[in-house]
Amino acid sequence: MIIEKIDKSRFTPEIFNIQSFGTAFADHMLVCSYKDGKWGEPIIKPYGKLEFTPAMSVAHYGQGIFEGMKAYKGSEGDVFLFRPEKNFERMNKSAVRLDMPEIPEEIFMEGLKALVDLDRQWVPDIYGMSLYLRPVMFATEEAITARSANEYLFVILTAVAPNYYNKPLSVKVADRYSRAANGGVGYAKAAGNYAGSFYPTHIAREEGYDQVIWTDDATHTLIEEAGTMNVMVRIGDKLLTAPTSERILNGVTRDSMIELAKSSGIDIEVRKITVEEVYNAHKSGELKEVFGVGTAVVVNNYVAVGYGDERLELPDLPLEESYGKSLKKKLVDLQMGISEDPFGWRIKVEEKLVEA
Ligand SMILES: *Cc1c(COP(=O)(O)O)cnc(C)c1O
Repeated sequence: MIIEKIDKSRFTPEIFNIQSFGTAFADHMLVCSYKDGKWGEPIIKPYGKLEFTPAMSVAHYGQGIFEGMKAYKGSEGDVFLFRPEKNFERMNKSAVRLDMPEIPEEIFMEGLKALVDLDRQWVPDIYGMSLYLRPVMFATEEAITARSANEYLFVILTAVAPNYYNKPLSVKVADRYSRAANGGVGYAKAAGNYAGSFYPTHIAREEGYDQVIWTDDATHTLIEEAGTMNVMVRIGDKLLTAPTSERILNGVTRDSMIELAKSSGIDIEVRKITVEEVYNAHKSGELKEVFGVGTAVVVNNYVAVGYGDERLELPDLPLEESYGKSLKKKLVDLQMGISEDPFGWRIKVEEKLVEA
């Protein structure tokens, strides 16, 4: 690994006041290129622009994948990653599906830890805040030939992530558009999945909603994901989430929430959820919560679900009564090193991993 340190850090404590996500990039980034059938040496260098040709194939054919994870700072100043091996494994699953080269574990893991260690002052020591880590890989070959590229770049960027308060978001159940289909790339974190979801989201906004609840593409009768997150539904005192599939992305937050729910004595069931049962549960007053779960926002309890022309309002339960809010607190406490970690999910980033 080659380390080129920045001359003068851009860090100021005011950066932790940011409200928006994904714009305050830390001092360094990791880049590693793939060429002639092999990965080169990873380089950590100052974050900045790179040069590309407009013929680079990702711009034409969308061969691009990414990951999203976070680094947290505990009260003692220790910096932690959360289940990073899950993101590593998923990135390579995405790579296989998009016919891209897999990333060696040491480049991903050692690169990630060295980068976070170098920029550890950018990890906020403020409850609920973190440094968001964005590994991304895309085809850089100068060729507009419609085939898998021969050259790629793997980059890890990091950006200060604000504390997301539970924004009063509402969601519209998709009855026309789909995010994913069987046999497709819905289970991969492929850039194009997002591109395809923007227009349906735009339409939902025009109808007065913030995000889309994605349903199965064939019948639009099953509730599968919400926005860019997995989704959980609480009917009575039972928490439900759909099993992962070719259409449903295997979220690390979803998996962690299932484990936390089990260990908290919450009755959680992983099974298909129909739009009809959610609608009926609302009519009978049994629909208590619908929330999205994902790394960026952690948990977002929705205030309303749109179904056809109806707007189903949801109660705003206090933390002690809400599964979504109480599990979110449990998860963030664990991630920040406040509570015990019986699962072994927290990975400490050792200091001075690399001599620069
Ligand atoms: C990334 C992502 C999620 C959430 O995954 P986490 O690992 O929990 O961040 C859920 N659905 C989709 C479509 C995603 O891209």
